[in-house]
Amino acid sequence: MSDTAGRTVGSVFDAVEDRTDTSGGRCGPAVLSIDVELFDQTPAYRSAAGTTDQQGIGLDGLAWFRETLRDRGANTTCFVVSSLADPYPDAIGSLADAGFEIASHTRSHELLSELSADRRRGELRDSRERLESLTGQSVTGFRAPAFDITDDHFALLAETGYGYDSSVIASRAIPGWYGGEYDLETPARATAIDPDAPADVAELPASVMPGLRLPLTGTWLRFFGPRYTALGMRLLARRGIAPVLYVHPWELVGLPNVEGVPSRVYYHTGEWMREAVEYILDQPFDFVTARSVIEASLPDWAPATAAVDGHRET
Ligand SMILES: [Zn+2]
Repeated sequence: MSDTAGRTVGSVFDAVEDRTDTSGGRCGPAVLSIDVELFDQTPAYRSAAGTTDQQGIGLDGLAWFRETLRDRGANTTCFVVSSLADPYPDAIGSLADAGFEIASHTRSHELLSELSADRRRGELRDSRERLESLTGQSVTGFRAPAFDITDDHFALLAETGYGYDSSVIASRAIPGWYGGEYDLETPARATAIDPDAPADVAELPASVMPGLRLPLTGTWLRFFGPRYTALGMRLLARRGIAPVLYVHPWELVGLPNVEGVPSRVYYHTGEWMREAVEYILDQPFDFVTARSVIEASLPDWAPATAAVDGHRET
């Protein structure tokens, strides 16, 4: 994406923002979730030729995100790669201490479609158990790395104790990213995605720009800018839909140069992205957990919850 394209998109926003002005009113709930993984766990780094010796790339971004939301009284859901709980128990535990919802983003951040069914089951079960024992919170939510799920996904989620999924995005087809197979934009029973899904599993899809059908966050936020994301949030709110957004800790720090990592991964990371997150948090939305949006949308949804003691490991 060139800067020229970015400016063109910007002038489109000027025209449309005038028509979505809410004149100071609140727009309702929104979810600015965080997928808690480090730079060396991303598919882009794992498939690159080069490496870095730097450890914990993203932890500073995670701490900044936690403090920024807490200072503003905002809540969120943290989809956590549970293998981080071993080297960094305090970084993960402090998210629960801040009052945020803890959910799973697998144990290892491997792409689920590249694993056997047994390994997928292990990724789901082990990460939930580890996060529950660390934080003392019941973990009911799950998001797959790269929104990559398999045909047995919802059955495995139910079997391993989850109540909801947030691994679907109603994006148009983008070769190398998404297949464009979903059109779900609101919280629903997972049967809306897969008729064979267990009835008690819910789905909270990540948001796309109405009409354009490109994701509102991730790479598209960093290329189009936070006004793009904020405009999409308002357009969704006008249709009664709570926007569901996501960021990554490694987007919030300066990244080391690693041979073979695509330049798009570096684009607008670090300070630029922190300012973008603050811009989003300045929008007139109530930032809440993923779980609370599902509960409000599906009043009779009652996921099974394992008994946990409510105390964080020390
Ligand atoms: Zn991820």
